[in-house]
Amino acid sequence: DWLNIARFDVSQVVKELSDVLGTTFQREIRVHINGNAVQMKGDKDKIRQLLLILIDNAIKYSKEPIDVRVRPEKNGVKLEVTDYGIGVPESEIPYMFERFYRVDSARHRSTGGSGLGLSIAKKIIDMHEGTVEVFSKPGSGTTISIQFPRNLKSSPQ
Ligand code: ATP
Repeated sequence: DWLNIARFDVSQVVKELSDVLGTTFQREIRVHINGNAVQMKGDKDKIRQLLLILIDNAIKYSKEPIDVRVRPEKNGVKLEVTDYGIGVPESEIPYMFERFYRVDSARHRSTGGSGLGLSIAKKIIDMHEGTVEVFSKPGSGTTISIQFPRNLKSSPQ
């Protein structure tokens, strides 16, 4: 179908992207990788797009350094983006991934945004049979944690 599935080193994608975004936006993006290479199966361009959306949000909604983690797990790979910014109220977390949804706080109105990023991110996660969890607290920050399976049911092993 329209996914271009291959095995690739996701730690390399994270390093390259964090480098480009850190330089471009003059922000400290700390990359934590467990191991030398972390292989995953998926569409590399789409995973890069997903990471771009998450790191771009972390940049927009925080001022501190950002932590990006890549961890191989028994049954797949975990990707995590953590910021120490404005956070999201618990009641709004269920709606964050909806199209055009933006958390109704006065603070975010100063940054541009269409509310599309996370809906695209969710599509990419679903296409890779992944799951996503959000841990957030207003005023202290947000972690978006994504778990991808080692093998995709919908493609040849
Ligand atoms: P765009 O898609 O143009 O980047 P956006 O950032 O508003 O715009 P999404 O990425 O879909 O849209 O995010 C939806 C909403 O979720 C945001 O408007 C913001 O309120 C909230 N949000 C997303 N990421 C974070 C974060 N790291 N910290 C705090 N709030 C966030």
